[in-house]
Formats: sequence, C-alpha cells, structure tokens
Amino acid sequence: MNLIGEHTDYNGGFVLPVAIPQRTRVELAPRDDIQVQVWSSAASGGVSNYKLGAESRRKDWLDYIQGVTQILCREGKALGGFDACISSTVPLGSGLSSSAALSVSLLRALRSAFGLDLNDVQIARIGQRVENEFVGARVGIMDPMAASLADEHTALFLDARSLEYRRVPLPAGAKLIVIHSGVEHRLVGGDYNTRRAECEKACTLLGVEQLRDLGPADLPRVDALPEPLNRRARHVITENQRVLTAVESMESGDLQRLGQLFHESHASMRDDYQVSVSEIDTLVELARAEQAIYGARLTGGGFGGSVVMLAKAGHGWAVALRLAGVYEKQTGCTPKVLVPAPVRA
Ligand code: ADP
Ligand code: MG
Repeated sequence: MNLIGEHTDYNGGFVLPVAIPQRTRVELAPRDDIQVQVWSSAASGGVSNYKLGAESRRKDWLDYIQGVTQILCREGKALGGFDACISSTVPLGSGLSSSAALSVSLLRALRSAFGLDLNDVQIARIGQRVENEFVGARVGIMDPMAASLADEHTALFLDARSLEYRRVPLPAGAKLIVIHSGVEHRLVGGDYNTRRAECEKACTLLGVEQLRDLGPADLPRVDALPEPLNRRARHVITENQRVLTAVESMESGDLQRLGQLFHESHASMRDDYQVSVSEIDTLVELARAEQAIYGARLTGGGFGGSVVMLAKAGHGWAVALRLAGVYEKQTGCTPKVLVPAPVRA
C-alpha cells in the first residue's frame, strides 16, 4: 500500500509503499513432467492446466501464472512442471497490488522449489515484466518492489529509476488506517494507460526523457502546456517533491506535516491527475473532519479503490469503524476496513 508518491513510478520518480498484513500464499510441489496445474481461492472455475512452453494469453488470472513461467523459461531458468495452490487475503482490484502479490509469491515459491538464482529485486523486475509483456498492463515497478521488499514497520523509500531504496521507520505516534471505498476500479486498464501516454506526450513537448527530470523550477514551463498535459505533469512533479518531504517528516516525527502532505497529494490526484471518484473524495473529506486523523488520501492507481489515513496512535479501530459507518450512510457504498486488519492470514 502506497503512503505517498502516486503515478510517479513509471515517470522515474519516488514512491513510499509499506506492507499491509494481508498475504498471498502459494503452496507448490514440483512435478516430473512439464505440466502446470494451479488453483486459486480467488478464482472461480477450478483447476487450470497448461504445459510449460505453451503459454498463451487468456485474459484472465492465469495470465499472471503463465507470464511468470514464460519469462523464467525465456531467461533460461531450469524450471519444471508443478502443482500450485494459491490462497490470498489481499483484496483484488482495490489499489493494494493483489496482482503483484500474486506474481511475487509465485516467483518466491518457484525460486525455493527449483533452486533458482534470483534475488528480491530481480523477482520484482520479473513481476513487472509479467504485467507489461504478458498481461498487457503498463504498470510501474512500485507494486512488485513493495510486494518483494516492503515490511509492515518501515516504508520503502524507493527511487523507481535507479531502484535504490532506503527503509524509513513508521513514526511511533501514528497508526495507519486503510478503508476500501466499495468502488471497484472503473475502466482501470484504459485510463491508466491513457495517463501514461499523456505523461509521455508531456515529456516530448518539454524535451525531457522522463518527468522525473523536472523540478519545482520547471513548473512555469509546465503550466504553459496544453490541457490536460499541464495538469498531468504538474501532479508528477509536485508529487515527487511531496515524497521527499514526507520522508523528512517521518524521520523528524512531524505527523502534522505528513498529514498535510496526504491532503495535498489527494487534491493533486483529484484535480490535476484526475484519477479520483466522488465516493473516494467523500471518504477523504469525512476523514479530514476527524480530530484523530492527520491526513487522508486515495492510495493506488485510482478510479475507485482505497483511502489511506494517518491516525493518532490508539485511535485506529474506533475511528475507522465510525468513518466507515458514516460513509456507508452518505454514499450507499459498502466500505471495508482493511487496516487495522481483523485477523492475520
Ligand atoms: P490490484 O493489483 O490493484 O489488486 P489489478 O487489476 O492489477 O488490481 O490485479 C487484479 C487481478 O489480479 C485480478 O483480476 C486477478 O486476475 C489477479 N489476481 C490477483 N490476486 C489473485 C489471486 N490470489 N488469485 C487469482 N488471481 C489473482
Ligand atoms: Mg495490480
């Protein structure tokens, strides 16, 4: 789950994800042929089969599995057939990276079963390639890096261009709340890819390789771009700065400032990047009115999904449940409190 730094990864910028308690688990047994048999608790339709080397796109969940085996085989890794049973408590399509959790957990299981020589960063890179090259989603590197490297107690401050990272402890005085809005991603693939294309267009017009190459001093130039490219680029540039300031705030324990950055990030996603929806805005506004909450923002790619809130320690559960209740009454949507998690998987 990303604390701040949204839509910055594919622009070569900074992100700050943290692990949530939800897990995807893969139990795997090698076979002595090249058959793959998989079952997932999150998918209907029973056991799916295919042969290594005969992967072909089906436009469903099995593509994440087939993408993993195709890329590993093409990389010359000594893989055999296997039976795998997948179970997950990560909500699908909620902006919490269930797809990266799936590919990374499968890659870890294969690494251990077949003794593959892969480190955690290489696993994340393959996870991204699975979505880019096989599934057909132009996702960035943040989700698989978070699934592969983040933990629950520190945020992973990641430079998405160099893949350098540093772990930043979560401030002791704060608790994270994550509430799913009950609104599933709307038109997610299409809109996500449109935003990427807009960023690329902005780069061409500005004469840079990636928006990461620009800073606050470039904003007047960015404002002069045609709509909506000016907004898209402004979001990415200001969001990168907010990640850097958020890291400083976490390290100095300035929770008010961190909360303020959450609000600014949300406004930028709503007005400049235009990836929020009205229900999410309502949930963020309700959270802002709470004394015990420093800040709240849409987390993940947008067009639905979840809101992350920074709450005063000791106020997690009570505030989350109250907010979920008021939100449900106001919008008619069915929210779900995901963090704090009721049970550990
Ligand atoms: P997000 O990653 O934000 O949850 P995506 O659209 O990127 O949303 O990925 C969701 C898709 O990933 C699902 O539609 C499904 O195809 C696949 N997926 C994720 N987790 C699982 C799982 N445990 N079992 C089967 N498929 C899964
Ligand atoms: Mg995903």
